[in-house]
Amino acid sequence: MIEFKNVTMKYKTNGAVALDDVNVRIDDGEFVFIVGASGAGKSSFLNVIMGQEKVDEGFVRVGPYSLGKIRKRDLPYLRRMLGIVFQDFRLIPKMNVYDNVAFALRVIGMSERKITKRVRYVLKLVDLSDKADNLPNQLSTGERQRVAIARAIINRPRILLLDEPLGALDLKMRKEMQIELKEMQRELGITFVYVTHDQEEALTMSDNIIVMKDGVIQQIG
Ligand code: ADP
Repeated sequence: MIEFKNVTMKYKTNGAVALDDVNVRIDDGEFVFIVGASGAGKSSFLNVIMGQEKVDEGFVRVGPYSLGKIRKRDLPYLRRMLGIVFQDFRLIPKMNVYDNVAFALRVIGMSERKITKRVRYVLKLVDLSDKADNLPNQLSTGERQRVAIARAIINRPRILLLDEPLGALDLKMRKEMQIELKEMQRELGITFVYVTHDQEEALTMSDNIIVMKDGVIQQIG
């Protein structure tokens, strides 16, 4: 599903080497963790997958797209393969839960009948059916994070990118969400690429762990 071959990426602004000769293969349906200290290159790895940063050397493929050669008009199709969950949720404050989740489907012009069906299904999956009318500020932190996850999977992405998704949650909620995410992997067959600095989280949930340091992959396994 994702392949990096001899990938090097530097930020133009300061010349920082964020990825240094990275080689990775992530299979369809795999649950992969990226761990490493701050500055290791984890977010940069995700930025390359999203097509947000171009690599300086090497080859990157995401699904059918070679990112070095991707045309501008294909970028929206690449993005549609991806669901993205950030630590800070990024919900729209004036929209209730239902509309936050439905938003991406309205943008692509789906019929309201279909949208209702999909939003109901996904809200059930993240256990938020009874909170559809709430505004984000009427939710707990854990519930807001669930909305962010519902929103990321509503488009039926093939790949879910998660950057420290449970960082804002307390231990009990983290454990619950970990179980739910694993269930989602089984139920939906999505490929998970999950960035964390919490090694225990990685050890309990992963099919594979990629350990990064200073832009270099130190271990995969
Ligand atoms: P992590 O996500 O593991 O904390 P990053 O991928 O954010 O690591 O950072 C990798 C390296 O790239 C670091 O040296 C960091 O300072 C640098 N870096 C990250 N983002 C930028 C940016 N937008 N511009 C310049 N340098 C950056």
